[in-house]
Amino acid sequence: MITLHLARLEKAPVSLEGEVPAEALDLGKGATFEIASPMHYRISAQLLSGGIIVTGSLHYRISGECGRCLAPVEREIKVDDFTIQLDRPETEAVEIFEEIREEALLVLPYNLLCSEDCKGLCPKCGADLNRKSCRCSLKSESGLPAGDLRWAALDQLNIKLKK
Ligand SMILES: [Zn+2]
Ligand SMILES: [Zn+2]
Repeated sequence: MITLHLARLEKAPVSLEGEVPAEALDLGKGATFEIASPMHYRISAQLLSGGIIVTGSLHYRISGECGRCLAPVEREIKVDDFTIQLDRPETEAVEIFEEIREEALLVLPYNLLCSEDCKGLCPKCGADLNRKSCRCSLKSESGLPAGDLRWAALDQLNIKLKK
C-alpha cells in the first residue's frame, strides 16, 4: 500500500504523499471509536549506509461517543514528524504500511472524550452533568450521603468506647 523501491532510493531521497482507506487502519475489536476518514500521509525516505530512514507526518479523523457523557465526538488525529528506521531490505521493493500504521495508532487516546473536563453522566439518574446538575449531585455537594455513612461508623465507635 505504501511501497518504497530501492532502485529509486539509491538515486535520491523519495517523497510520497497519499491516502490509505480508513478500513486499512483496523483498530481491532474492542475499540470504543472508529476511524472516520482516510489517513493522509506525507513521507520522505532516504537510503543511508545503515538502512532506510523514513520521516513524515499523518493525519486522519476518528469518531465515536464520549466515554463519559456519550455525546458524539469527532476528532482530528495528527502525527507530526515521526521517524522510522528500517534495515536495508533484501528485496527491491519494501512495503512500509504496517510500520506507518503503528505510528498512526500509537497516538490514539485510550478513551475518546468530548473534552478533558467533561463532567459525564450522573451515575444515579443519568443526567448530563455538562448541561445541568441533578438533585443527586446537589446532595453529594452538601456532603449528606457520604457523611451519613461516616457518622454512622463514628457513632458505633463511640458506643464501643463508652462501654
Ligand atoms: Zn463528554
Ligand atoms: Zn443525578
